Amino acid sequence: MLRVTKAKKKTKADDAEKLARRSVIDTALAMSRSGLSPGRSGNVSCRWKGGMLITPTGMAYETLKPRDIVFITAKGTLPGKSLRKPSSEWRFHLAAYRARPDMNAVLHTHSLHATVLACAHKPIPAFHYMVAIAGGKDIPPVPYDTFGTQELADHVAGGLAQRNACLMANHGQIAIGKDLASALELAHEVEVLAEQYSRLLALGGEPHILPDEEMARVLERFKSYGQRAQGT
Ligand SMILES: [Zn+2]
Repeated sequence: MLRVTKAKKKTKADDAEKLARRSVIDTALAMSRSGLSPGRSGNVSCRWKGGMLITPTGMAYETLKPRDIVFITAKGTLPGKSLRKPSSEWRFHLAAYRARPDMNAVLHTHSLHATVLACAHKPIPAFHYMVAIAGGKDIPPVPYDTFGTQELADHVAGGLAQRNACLMANHGQIAIGKDLASALELAHEVEVLAEQYSRLLALGGEPHILPDEEMARVLERFKSYGQRAQGT
């Protein structure tokens, strides 16, 4: 009898992990379908058992099975036999979870317009009130460093300590969320804002930037109404 109960518990835990692995795949597929990750760029993770579950390196999202998603511990180690190698960017995913204990999902892409601005080292200023969706009055780029390095992870952690999304100089963008759906939605918002701002710059002349007091008011309203109530 006792053995049966134990077996059932184990199955439940296994199911929960399989579900989390499946959610990472579904988010990666949704990212790809929405055009946010040109040329197979990008990677997705969610917090799991103190560490994280992250997409593997060099595999098309369409071919991924739950067992292909890689578990990495909080210390950055791969326990046991891992079937796949994690995304080469796993260090900044882990750094994001350390910097933001309140967040549970990380999404990174080289989405077109965010990457264009990141390569110009241009922050997205408060040209539109929706910029506040990233948690501040602008969406700044974090400094460049070689992909896969701890130095880059440190820069990303520094940026995400201040915002829920950042541009990454000469690289792309990163967005975090309470869950995978929120991180994906934020990455999409950042890309839309980046496209709008790029087009505004192309018009020439000085863009009209909202003053800090107004952005502080918008940030307050986002807090009280929740992010989903902003779409007016
Ligand atoms: Zn990248």
